[in-house]
Amino acid sequence: MRLALSFVFSLALSFVYGQQYPYRQTISMLCSPEYAGRGYVEDGRVLAANFIAAEFQKIGLQPFKNKYQQTFTLPVQTFPGACLFVLGSDTLKPGIDYLVHPGSAGVALPSSYQLVYCNTSTLYRSVNAFKPCPKDRMLVVQTTGFGGDTNKVLQARLQELQQFAATTELTTNKLTWSVSQEAKPYPAFQVVTTAFASKPQSAFIHLTTLFEPKFTSSNVIGYLPAANKPKQKPYLVVTAHYDHLGRMGSETYFPGANDNASGVGMLLYLAQELSRQRDSNFNYVFIAFGAEEAGLVGSHYFVEHPLFDLKQIRFLLNTDIMGSGEEGITVVNATLFKSEFDKLKELNTEANYLPQIKSRGPAANSDHYFFTESGVPAFFVYTMGPNKHYHDIADTAEELSYAAFEPLAQLLLSFMRSF
Ligand SMILES: [Zn+2]
Repeated sequence: MRLALSFVFSLALSFVYGQQYPYRQTISMLCSPEYAGRGYVEDGRVLAANFIAAEFQKIGLQPFKNKYQQTFTLPVQTFPGACLFVLGSDTLKPGIDYLVHPGSAGVALPSSYQLVYCNTSTLYRSVNAFKPCPKDRMLVVQTTGFGGDTNKVLQARLQELQQFAATTELTTNKLTWSVSQEAKPYPAFQVVTTAFASKPQSAFIHLTTLFEPKFTSSNVIGYLPAANKPKQKPYLVVTAHYDHLGRMGSETYFPGANDNASGVGMLLYLAQELSRQRDSNFNYVFIAFGAEEAGLVGSHYFVEHPLFDLKQIRFLLNTDIMGSGEEGITVVNATLFKSEFDKLKELNTEANYLPQIKSRGPAANSDHYFFTESGVPAFFVYTMGPNKHYHDIADTAEELSYAAFEPLAQLLLSFMRSF
């Protein structure tokens, strides 16, 4: 009975206020194989941008200069075809047992490599240790424990060690992929240490690569004009990148659910809510950025080619990783914009939306960065929780808990309406 009543009640509410944006369906769809990880192979990123533009139109956002999309180009290394790494009779599983280095060169003809093992200290110590060495060798280096610099040292050494045809870095860390705007002169892989437990003597590799010097991507931009005299009104901006890492070979893609289909869901949810009651003091702008994962390329392009005066932005909220929230949120730039951060915390305390709001200083870790650099007040908000999938093939829509999604949306709405 209680269920039935609450159902009737929520129906009545949705009749009065309209339906909330179906963010879960949108997020699941953006993570489906058809969208190919919204990257650089197939049309996944185009489908996503067109979908977002269509949603903007449905919600009632207006385009700047008659179009929702702002296109730009970037160089990028892509992996559109074969992706095969075989050790003896074991075919390694892409994304689970190994990653291709994001800038790896291809192995166009399937090839066998003799494996030469080395530990990192030897690599650090001497290049002469490896000479002379025939060209069909793959250098296998155990790198765990040397942190982020190891790869740099490895790359520098390999420049000197031209005689090696390819490299494999063994790791016990979680496999975390990314995107490269450069192509390396040799094939490079990262493999889980356990796959090499029996110290195999050779590896069989086939890897198709295609370097795209001018890959076209786009930002999707729409706005809700202020209720009156919009031309004289400042802007409140919400942003989220829609791209992810795309494909690593024809069989494997990175769905990018938490990062950042979830942010796109949040952007559209907020747009729909705000479209129901336009503000008289602000134009609301919504931007879905492309090519964030390739180095904040879309947001950098927008800051250099803005469609309105950036000085007119009163505040910008960048949402990235919106899919959990059991442990609340972190706010990047909290220390730079203290009064706004205090206000956000106060609104949260009043209505008890989230268990925790953590303060963090400035960081170049998402699309707010170039805005901050050019003097635009901005926060980057991300959720925290037990979901640790990040830049891996398990960042799927099914793994999202949405623990804080709706309360966080309400918090961000009250924050925006408080200006
Ligand atoms: Zn992201």
